[in-house]
Amino acid sequence: MSQVTVECVQGNIADQPDMDAIVNAANAQLMPGAGVAGAIHSAAGPGLAQECRPLAPIRCGQAVISSAHALPNRHVIHCLGPVYGVDEPSDQLLASCYREALMLAEQNSLSSVAFPAISTGVFGYPLREAAEVTAQAIADTLPRLKSVKQVRLVLFRSGDYRTFRHAFSQAGLVPAG
Ligand code: ADP
Repeated sequence: MSQVTVECVQGNIADQPDMDAIVNAANAQLMPGAGVAGAIHSAAGPGLAQECRPLAPIRCGQAVISSAHALPNRHVIHCLGPVYGVDEPSDQLLASCYREALMLAEQNSLSSVAFPAISTGVFGYPLREAAEVTAQAIADTLPRLKSVKQVRLVLFRSGDYRTFRHAFSQAGLVPAG
């Protein structure tokens, strides 16, 4: 049995004060943008973009870590997800984001990480497919985690929450229901 608690919640990724790290659905330049990146940079303040500048550009599927500035967390982990229909193989690149982010959390001795649904906004990844790839990527990485004890998926909309919850219960990560 895995010692890691996995959960899906509906909410705002920039408002997860009990988590060591939150994950940003970043752009390659790690700059503020729409959606998740906009919410995280505006809550973190301009210091986040300043710290990120020398870390950019990142490649698709890669994760990098920064401090969290005015956010209530210790770190932000920035992932560049695939643009659906452009960056291929999209499922492997999306899985790589979750795996790399969790391993970075592990290397930094963090115990809790909250993710948004990477690539499902502006980058156009169909939600159900993204939910299945995400659940499988997390399930595959769980056995490698020692420091990380809690993984949370934060879905903005109620329909997205239900889709992720279903995929996560199918993968045996959360109880059915
Ligand atoms: P990407 O460019 O990787 O597609 P987006 O930020 O456009 O990233 O969207 C990723 C997902 O995050 C979408 O499902 C979107 O509805 C959701 N989202 C947008 N803002 C927030 C937020 N503040 N907290 C959590 N999820 C959000």
